[in-house]
Amino acid sequence: MTATTAASAAYIVAGLLFILSLAGLSRHETAKAGNAYGIAGMVIALAATVGLATRDTSATGLVLLVVAVAIGAAIGLWRARKVEMTGMPELIALLHSFVGLAAVLVGWNGYLSVEGAAGQDGGPVLDGAEAGIHSGEVVVGVFIGAVTFTGSIVAFLKLSARIKSNPLMLPGRNWLNLGALALFVAFTVVFVVEPNLVVLSVVTVLALALGWHLVASIGGGDMPVVVSMLNSYSGWAAAASGFLLGNDLLIITGALVGSSGAYLSYIMCRAMNRSFLSVIAGGFGNEGSVGSADVDHGEHTEISAADTAELLRDAKSVVITPGYGMAVAQAQGPVADLTRKLTERGVEVRFGIHPVAGRLPGHMNVLLAEAKVPYDVVLEMDEINDDLAATSVVLVIGANDTVNPAATDDPGSPIAGMPVLRVWEAERVVVFKRSMNTGYAGVQNPLFFRDNTRMLFGDARERVEDILRAL
Ligand code: NDP
Repeated sequence: MTATTAASAAYIVAGLLFILSLAGLSRHETAKAGNAYGIAGMVIALAATVGLATRDTSATGLVLLVVAVAIGAAIGLWRARKVEMTGMPELIALLHSFVGLAAVLVGWNGYLSVEGAAGQDGGPVLDGAEAGIHSGEVVVGVFIGAVTFTGSIVAFLKLSARIKSNPLMLPGRNWLNLGALALFVAFTVVFVVEPNLVVLSVVTVLALALGWHLVASIGGGDMPVVVSMLNSYSGWAAAASGFLLGNDLLIITGALVGSSGAYLSYIMCRAMNRSFLSVIAGGFGNEGSVGSADVDHGEHTEISAADTAELLRDAKSVVITPGYGMAVAQAQGPVADLTRKLTERGVEVRFGIHPVAGRLPGHMNVLLAEAKVPYDVVLEMDEINDDLAATSVVLVIGANDTVNPAATDDPGSPIAGMPVLRVWEAERVVVFKRSMNTGYAGVQNPLFFRDNTRMLFGDARERVEDILRAL
């Protein structure tokens, strides 16, 4: 068997393992196995690629390759072990930016080693359709890569709160995006007809600016869609590099990531009642939305942990709606203990999970699974919303935007139209948070001022532990 045949066989096995990985990751029960398939697939893919490289790379090239893989793996391992669950979204955004940058570099390398080297001694000669296809791959790869690169960096900055998450509202921003796309199409034609350095440089700068603007103009509440969308872009960027490098596995893997990311974005858009096209076009349709931060909502009423325990003792049914604050406080363990204790006392306890609660798709489900909360009491928003009106007590643990009635009641709110958990319909609502600060979207929450709402201030973990002691 030649090295190429062996590598092709290994690539097929790796591709199948990636498909099994995606299938596994779509369910709680099989997620761990999904992860294992993904790791195995990647190890096989890397080994086959390095094996292939030994055939046509110099000794120095091989040493550089192995050193680069070792350094990358060490940094990856170190970051993955150190990162808090709450820091995952920004880490993922940063990783997407690397894929984008790699695609830009592969594209530029493709140009410099083929079109740029034409006519030079030893430079490869392509002609006719082959030359046009190569130039097309270069310019498309560079464009998708550069959009992914700057878009992901802005997402990283927003998600890590290094810059404000408010949307950037440049005048005529939709026309700016459309104009950039039209220019890209025109430059692609020019580049395919006559490849040259100036056009490629202009396309690179244009795409870098477009990626930055697309994500900068998306508001805080729509960020979950952006994260999955950039995930999708990074897949297409990798696939574009695969075409250029003639690497089938990169094309397959890129297409898998690209299409699963696009599907996830579509699901998130549906859950948030946003139009997919408007979000990928950079927040089209957000014009005119204003926050209601300055509106006077009246007074809020506080409650102590002991009184909350009293409420829970008398409750028939309890629904817990966790949010990002539960992740920050790492309160899932005590929340699971509270669930067990109340269930033993005959109280019906269930969870209501908003599709964008936390900072990652499935964030709350992962935390609750880790704390061994049974899956059958963890319900999606649509499954629990109609039962909230008949619920004795709702415990809002570190959630804010996902339980904000302004989404349904205030058409001027930046989160208007987003479906939310209608916790205010319950008999009593207790909100666990540290202050009256807003949530991720920066919008004040009128829920906190309702007659049936009580605020339990402090770190969510400590407050839940206080309640457990009082019970
Ligand atoms: P929010 O971000 O709206 O609110 C979290 C709340 O938790 C804050 O109001 C904060 O209030 C409170 N909090 C923080 N730390 C603690 C603590 N230690 N103890 C108690 N409370 C705490 O959370 P939601 O989950 O409701 O909403 C998620 C938001 O994130 C949405 O806007 C969503 O669009 C966005 N998003 C979601 C992503 C996803 O994929 N799921 C990705 C990117 C963005 P205080 O400071 O007063 O304590």
